[in-house]
Amino acid sequence: MPQSLIHVAVAHSPFREKFAIPRQPGLATAVRTRIELLPPYNKEEAIEGLEQVSHIWLLFLFHGVGSCPDTLRVRPPRLGGNERIGVFASRSTHRPNGIGQSVVRVERIEGTDIWVSGADLLDGTPIIDIKPYVPYSDVPPHAINTIAPAAPEPCDVNWTEEALQASQQQAARLSEPVTEVISQCLAQDPRPAYQSHDPQREYGVRLWDLNVTWCYPQPQTVLVRSVTPCD
Ligand code: SAM
Repeated sequence: MPQSLIHVAVAHSPFREKFAIPRQPGLATAVRTRIELLPPYNKEEAIEGLEQVSHIWLLFLFHGVGSCPDTLRVRPPRLGGNERIGVFASRSTHRPNGIGQSVVRVERIEGTDIWVSGADLLDGTPIIDIKPYVPYSDVPPHAINTIAPAAPEPCDVNWTEEALQASQQQAARLSEPVTEVISQCLAQDPRPAYQSHDPQREYGVRLWDLNVTWCYPQPQTVLVRSVTPCD
């Protein structure tokens, strides 16, 4: 067993900050992430056969989390942010060793770059292992999880005319599905569960080199207000 964990790859994603990253993979399928293999693993032999696989597991480090206190219980957003469960009953980023795992779809392989969709990874996330998804074994037929029985109900996402036009222009410049990514990520409602609804409050996040702002005119409705290049 290695003495310390080796970074075998790094993820390049649109997410420049943790806010508004979906809370699990597969919730924003338009998100494209490039997995760049790092030396000495950046050889085609290392991924030979991967073209036969539709999905992979990424094991990674939550490098964007500061110090990880030795906490045994956490407050998952899924439970409203005020109920606690054991850290090992959760997918919290605050955990011993700070290891995360996500199943993502392999879109294509270019040399030693693996392009995947639907990932929930911060830009620059160190990947410590990549494994093929094995459908007959990785989806137990009677699996249940009553803490998170189904994906959360998505919000409706509306756009101002100006924001939509700007998003489409930026999509052409970046060659990325900017409008779909923003819509899918904001539909997940990134607000902390404890925050009360305030229709006046404006939220913002950086995606790629863009600042995106939005508000909630009604509790379950997003209005995207602007998409502008960062200074
Ligand atoms: N699917 C993984 C798992 O179950 O281990 C991650 C679940 S965790 C609840 C997802 C959140 O982790 C994202 O919404 C984002 O805020 C955060 N995140 C993603 N990449 C991160 C990183 N490299 N460092 C810190 N936080 C990260």
